[in-house]
Amino acid sequence: METLINMNTATKKVKAPGILNLANCKCPRCREGNMFTNSNPYNLKETMKMNAYCPVCGQPFNIEVGFYYGSGYISYALTIAWSVTTFVAWWVLIGFSLRDNQIFYWLGFNSLSLVALQPYLMRVSRTGWLAFFVRFDPNWRVNPVIKNERVNDAVENMS
Ligand SMILES: [Zn+2]
Repeated sequence: METLINMNTATKKVKAPGILNLANCKCPRCREGNMFTNSNPYNLKETMKMNAYCPVCGQPFNIEVGFYYGSGYISYALTIAWSVTTFVAWWVLIGFSLRDNQIFYWLGFNSLSLVALQPYLMRVSRTGWLAFFVRFDPNWRVNPVIKNERVNDAVENMS
């Protein structure tokens, strides 16, 4: 009986954390635990320091050897999206013309803004890449976590 009550409490529907929590670098499985040890990406010495496991649900964050090489795809897409956004915003707000150098000012602004955003982009790219392979599980409290495949700590740069 007690077990039943506990199971009911555990599976009780609570409002699931939204997918936007991924923009805050939360674990894709529970959307609550922090993927990175320091919540501030601009603490540059610790920008890429990750928790080995989700501190909330226990999801391993390094699921196979060299896993985060793939985050480059997400990083590329986000960089293009940002550049298109700043280009359109510049076009609408300031304008481009063949008779001025606005395109070069935009290029400079876009480059500097991408450099400034880099620590955050690198983090959120890892979160997005992991989210492709680890889906949100509303019942993470009761469902067992899927163990990671063999990993080789010696060749990783996780911490
Ligand atoms: Zn988690």
